[in-house]
Amino acid sequence: MILVTGGAGFIGSNFVLDWLAQSDEPVVNLDALTYAGNRANLASLDGDARHVFVHGDIGDRALVDGLLATHRPRAIVHFAAESHVDRSIHGPGAFVKTNVEGTFTLLEAARGFWNTLDAAEKAAFRFHHVSTDEVYGSLKPTDPPFAETNAYEPNSPYSASKAASDHLVRAWHHTYGLPVLTTNCSNNYGPYHFPEKLIPLMIVNALAGKPLPVYGDGRQIRDWLYVKDHCSGIRAVLAGGRVGETYNIGGWNEMANIDIVHTVCALLDELRPDPAGAYARLITHVTDRPGHDRRYAIDARKIERELGWRPAETFATGIRKTVQWYLDNAAWVADVQSGAYQDWIGTHYSAR
Ligand code: NAD
Repeated sequence: MILVTGGAGFIGSNFVLDWLAQSDEPVVNLDALTYAGNRANLASLDGDARHVFVHGDIGDRALVDGLLATHRPRAIVHFAAESHVDRSIHGPGAFVKTNVEGTFTLLEAARGFWNTLDAAEKAAFRFHHVSTDEVYGSLKPTDPPFAETNAYEPNSPYSASKAASDHLVRAWHHTYGLPVLTTNCSNNYGPYHFPEKLIPLMIVNALAGKPLPVYGDGRQIRDWLYVKDHCSGIRAVLAGGRVGETYNIGGWNEMANIDIVHTVCALLDELRPDPAGAYARLITHVTDRPGHDRRYAIDARKIERELGWRPAETFATGIRKTVQWYLDNAAWVADVQSGAYQDWIGTHYSAR
């Protein structure tokens, strides 16, 4: 049994689906179902006794204590977070609440539970914290990619809150001995991605004939990883990562946002031709995000060297699967485009 937090979100739901496709080890899935959480992502698990969904907050200590005592998981895989940089600029409080205080509560509950285990169970237990490359700040064009040894230089309220949570996780290992693992991953894309982030927003808007908003000059560079590869990287670290270590997970695929948008447009031109010409006609440059980091890149050699992990998808294969998934899942897209989504998306544009 493992406890997953945030397993109704984008990466968490992909992780739960992959986990149960590859093993019969049950999952307790604790998710507060914020705007980003969606039970529909897990619809294929309805009636599957291996998946126990719990609607609740990681900041609810009594709830988390009860789940740990009842289910006695051998690991916690912690995805739950507020994850959108633009939202963190407009409302940072929720990011501190969930990402910092929520992680603190989860760590304290995990520590209390871990202390009740016998020596063998204690040694086998893992607290796996899922984090982001954004904690390292922004790179210059000639800088080497982020290694695990880079200093933390977070620039947005989102990345600062994730950096704080990374530090708490580290301290709970060094101070209390809790067996932790941390992974810092680059930009994910793939199925079930909420269409406020760059790639799904471009697909959804293009199909609706709406403008494709690109921040500033669109030359911001990110490393992109297909979400299923992120999930396999987490499984590799959970299974064989050294306790107390951090592992960067990346796709070896640096691309500028504007090139991503052109790639998505070209794939849509091929798979669902634009009745009015070519989708690139919809690209619209908008005012850049304040403090927008220019470049992220990941050095993923440590996870490859120690655990033999490499991404299975190239960007070309992963983005094709992703665009096809959105074309095949119009009902899911319509479902997530609720009133709240329309309110937000009408006034804010996203590049992550
Ligand atoms: P998401 O926003 O799609 O999903 C977050 C999930 O957490 C949602 O299901 C939400 O309901 C749940 N949640 C939020 N607050 C909660 C709370 N207080 N208690 C319980 N559940 C709560 O995010 P995502 O993109 O799937 O990211 C998952 C994790 O991976 C985050 O920790 C994020 O920082 C990290 N990460 C994301 C990316 C990326 O590209 N999306 C890259 C690297 C790391």
